[in-house]
Amino acid sequence: MDPGAPSLWLDEAPATRLRALDTGTHAFDAVVVGLGITGVVAALELAEAGLSVLGIDAHGLGWGASARSGGFLLVEHAIEYPARRARFGADRMRTIIEMARSTHALVESRFAKAAEHKRCGSLILPMDDDAEEQQTLAEAARLLAEDGVPCTTGVERDDLRGFAPGMSIPEDGEVHPGKLLAAVGAEAAAAGATLRQALATEIHPKQRLITTPHATISYGVAIIAVNAWTRRLLPDVDIEPQRAQMLATRPVAPVRTLEPVCYGCWGYDYFRQRDDGRMLVGGRRHRHRDDESTEESTTTRPVQDDLERYLERHLSAFGPFEIEARWSGTMGFSPDELPFWHALCDYEDNPSTHVLGGMTGHGMGLGAVCGQTIARSTHCELSDTERRRLDLLDAKRLR
Ligand SMILES: Cc1cc2nc3c(=O)[nH]c(=O)nc-3n(C[C@H](O)[C@H](O)[C@H](O)COP(=O)(O)OP(=O)(O)OC[C@H]3O[C@@H](n4cnc5c(N)ncnc54)[C@H](O)[C@@H]3O)c2cc1C
Repeated sequence: MDPGAPSLWLDEAPATRLRALDTGTHAFDAVVVGLGITGVVAALELAEAGLSVLGIDAHGLGWGASARSGGFLLVEHAIEYPARRARFGADRMRTIIEMARSTHALVESRFAKAAEHKRCGSLILPMDDDAEEQQTLAEAARLLAEDGVPCTTGVERDDLRGFAPGMSIPEDGEVHPGKLLAAVGAEAAAAGATLRQALATEIHPKQRLITTPHATISYGVAIIAVNAWTRRLLPDVDIEPQRAQMLATRPVAPVRTLEPVCYGCWGYDYFRQRDDGRMLVGGRRHRHRDDESTEESTTTRPVQDDLERYLERHLSAFGPFEIEARWSGTMGFSPDELPFWHALCDYEDNPSTHVLGGMTGHGMGLGAVCGQTIARSTHCELSDTERRRLDLLDAKRLR
């Protein structure tokens, strides 16, 4: 599993690197495999509950998708809301909104400063030549408001080109994903978790054993949060790897004039400006679907050229641009684009190995609360709210 070139976020957060796991045999109350946002929050929760915890990652904290993401914390995929609500029903959508809000609240309450968190709001922009997208966004605004998500429509900006008036959601926000992962990892370590670099090569749920090339780990409970790479360990689990690519420009002016994080073209494209004026752009996957259905972590010329054209076409008011960094990451798509969880039993028929993944394109908004909820389900009574999350995540819905 080649991690590919680090993202700008990883370059700026060296504390995401991990020491290698010692050779030999290990025994822990709890083991977390995969330290993206989902796994590292699970490790934090378990360590704070007083369990002995080992977290391992093939590369480093967030080196899969999390610290390669745009770092948008969104309450929902706004443009997809009408379709998702029709498919899953208003009750489930309210649970998803509650989960995204809980993730945001967790980040804000514990990691705001370290993770450069801001409630900057989001701006969803339909293309000016796509009447269907404009109508769908109007319907999304109506349904989101009905389900308790305040939003404002008709938002116009002179400095963004090629878009119809957009919709803003003030409660949305942003983080520095590398610094967020490093900060959660530091808290988990401070609570007693051992976080190490190691590739899990096999999982034996019946025996509660995980092997790596140089170690064998026995556990009481395990959380497997390797998302896009789940099938490599558990071939029957239906999670599809999908690559996404981004680029970042050099700072042109040390000011930020675009405050909200933005997305357009049915949510496929996204951009944000950093406080130093740098513009970050990602997306265009929908124009290169076959090539991007891969777990190969590398950037490609066609997508990167498309991202550069996007900058010039839509964001030229913020230029001229010079590209400073390019990267890719691999997301794990579930069959219905909602995350799922299921438990595997050991020889005593206890559900001790918990597989959690399929965060799709929204894992920074949902991963933390998913990791926290599953971790809590292993050691304490859940509240009604948490039980609703568990019902939603239960992989039985996919059968
Ligand atoms: C370019 C890009 C932009 C994105 N932008 C956003 C955004 O702005 N907002 C948003 O909400 N979502 C965004 N996403 C999606 C989001 O990043 C993911 O949904 C989320 O990070 C998934 O988190 P995770 O912890 O479940 O998985 P990951 O972060 O992928 O973590 C899985 C970890 O498992 C490790 N691993 C894999 N196999 C093994 C093994 N065998 N042994 C040990 N470790 C292993 C990997 O190294 C990895 O660190 C974006 C994704 C990409 C790629």
